[in-house]
Amino acid sequence: MFNIVTEMKSISQNLLSIREQLPANVLLVAVSKTQLNSAIEEAYETGQRVFGENRIQELVAKAESLPSDIQWHMIGHLQSNKVKYIAPFVSLIHAIDKPKLLTEINKEAAKNNRTIRVLLQFHIAEEESKFGFNKKEAIELLSSKEYESYSNVEVIGVMGMATFTDNETQVRDEFRTLKDIFDGLKRDFFPKNSSFKEISMGMSGDYKLAITEGSTMVRIGSSIFGNRG
Ligand SMILES: *Cc1c(COP(=O)(O)O)cnc(C)c1O
Repeated sequence: MFNIVTEMKSISQNLLSIREQLPANVLLVAVSKTQLNSAIEEAYETGQRVFGENRIQELVAKAESLPSDIQWHMIGHLQSNKVKYIAPFVSLIHAIDKPKLLTEINKEAAKNNRTIRVLLQFHIAEEESKFGFNKKEAIELLSSKEYESYSNVEVIGVMGMATFTDNETQVRDEFRTLKDIFDGLKRDFFPKNSSFKEISMGMSGDYKLAITEGSTMVRIGSSIFGNRG
């Protein structure tokens, strides 16, 4: 007689082994998109409190039905007309890719009497389809009168996605590009602002590389929850 050992690790085992590899200054965002509440609850039981979602409807439904001390991060592309649904509770919005979106977030945050923290998304990948600013556009935004007038939105860093490729050199270069952009913006726009410190980069396939290149937030889904169905 012997026990059948399955290859599949549990969500909590995956979480624990990933956490062991993360330096203390790197936040783990558990990307729970498409996952059932039961899977999120298992991660929650293991102490995970920060979760990332990329669809508004799903994010709102989960926030309503899961524990209230979860910090929900919106990591996906966000349309201006959807901001109102998450403005009351969202903890961080990762993917600001248009000035107009900031205007809307500022307005909805004010209605809810709060300040919403956001990251500026940069286009660092080779692929055309990925959203994001380039450096020039971000400088224009941060120098604008509109930006100066925002009292309910706080830009705390940058976010980017590397090209989906096995070419490690390319991925490393793309992460370096994002780190350089961060350093430049920090120097020119946020020298005395201690909140501007986040670099959200790294997913299941490339988070180790992202950490060596200066990531402070990794967004990990499939390595925690398994492949999405
Ligand atoms: C889905 C997603 C992730 C997580 O991807 P995995 O490869 O499953 O870790 C990270 N960031 C964004 C923006 C995503 O949409």
